[in-house]
Amino acid sequence: MKIAMIGTGYVGLVSGVCFSDFGHDVVCVDKDPDKIEKLERGEVPIFEPGLETLLEKNVEAGRLSFTGDLAQAVRGAEAVFIAVGTPTRRGDGHADLGYVMAAAEEIARAASEYVVIVTKSTVPVGTNRQVKQAVKKANPDLDFDVASNPEFLREGAAIEDFMKPDRVVVGVQTDRAAEVMAEIYRPLYLREFPIMTTDLESAEMIKYAANAFLATKITFINEIAALCERTGADVKQVARGMGLDGRIGNKFLHAGPGYGGSCFPKDTRALARTGQEHGVPLHITESVIAVNEQVKRRMTDKLLDLCGGSFNGKTVGVLGVTFKPNTDDMREAPSLSIVPALVGGGAKVRVCDPQGRREGENLLPGVNWMDDPYKCAHKADLLVILTEWNEFRALDLKRIARKMATARLADLRNIYTARDAKRAGFLAYESIGRAGYI
Ligand code: NAD
Repeated sequence: MKIAMIGTGYVGLVSGVCFSDFGHDVVCVDKDPDKIEKLERGEVPIFEPGLETLLEKNVEAGRLSFTGDLAQAVRGAEAVFIAVGTPTRRGDGHADLGYVMAAAEEIARAASEYVVIVTKSTVPVGTNRQVKQAVKKANPDLDFDVASNPEFLREGAAIEDFMKPDRVVVGVQTDRAAEVMAEIYRPLYLREFPIMTTDLESAEMIKYAANAFLATKITFINEIAALCERTGADVKQVARGMGLDGRIGNKFLHAGPGYGGSCFPKDTRALARTGQEHGVPLHITESVIAVNEQVKRRMTDKLLDLCGGSFNGKTVGVLGVTFKPNTDDMREAPSLSIVPALVGGGAKVRVCDPQGRREGENLLPGVNWMDDPYKCAHKADLLVILTEWNEFRALDLKRIARKMATARLADLRNIYTARDAKRAGFLAYESIGRAGYI
């Protein structure tokens, strides 16, 4: 099967590489010439474990190539995937469909034979019908179908998620399109991963409903964490006790500094907006968005308490700036609100992240970048753990405490305990939803 993948970001590149590994002929397209140049040299422009090796293997096998020329990639392709960004539109929370619609029109102008145009980007319900209209308008003679194939991979575990998905969702209008999609996903079908075929609207809705539900679960435990802090309960034990109930499950029940990342914030906003537009306000999703903002503000208050009410003149070390470990993605990361609050409050901020520096240098002005956590702690008044990279999970806490001017630890990922901190000589320790000491 010949496939064109439009957009080689976190989703497009992983999907393109994995489809080529299934045995398909894949051409990945991006309008960013730097990305294409890097990819042609065998360099992966993002950090995603395992991606470079898989990419090399499939380029060598002659099944995978890269180009900036969309028309060339689309010519002869039996399926063209749209995997471009759908960020929040300025002002109203709606998903910005500008990139999707522009790609659809370009595809329409380039295609001349039957093709399935597949939207992999996360798009609000109704978008695939709009794509269909736009393609018809741009090329009235084209024989084509549209399909919705939302992606559920997680950054940091993207290849594993793509190759062993909980399910694949495919929304179609015709049997012909369903057959093309079945052929593309045949290797997964043969290994009995569930492939669910639906109408377009249900496929589009599944993606948003799933993300909003996961964001709700995280936000629920974050709110319970605040109550735990006031009442003496330990949120880690509470989450474990809840998660052992098979109806609830233990995933996405880790209290932390509020959800961020490239999907949950924008997708909850877009879903809430869709609800408003259809006269069906989604009160739960709207509350989740508001509570998550409160959770993020609560983090800054925690740090202020640890610093005795003011950041001014304090030296603060921050471990982790990416929105989660094993990615270099900083989109809507908690660090983007917490670090500016520290800098704005007059703190000298030192930052360390195994992969975040390249993005972070532009996004976090006024900080000093360190290449190891111990340098971050040197003569600091407060150390903040913001992302639970493996590199920060087994720190020599005694060594850290000795290096600091005043040994205070804000463990916003609940990696350590108050007992660990006390034993190591920390004067103060705070975490999320558990007893600390100041
Ligand atoms: P991204 O910003 O990393 O990548 C998008 C890429 O598309 C960019 O490289 C951009 O240059 C390129 N592009 C835009 N318009 C183009 C055009 N007309 N022709 C060629 N290239 C074009 O975005 P992403 O994180 O990969 O997300 C893509 C979509 O997948 C979004 O809708 C997102 O919600 C969804 N999604 C993302 C994740 C994730 O973990 N990142 C997971 C599931 C779904």
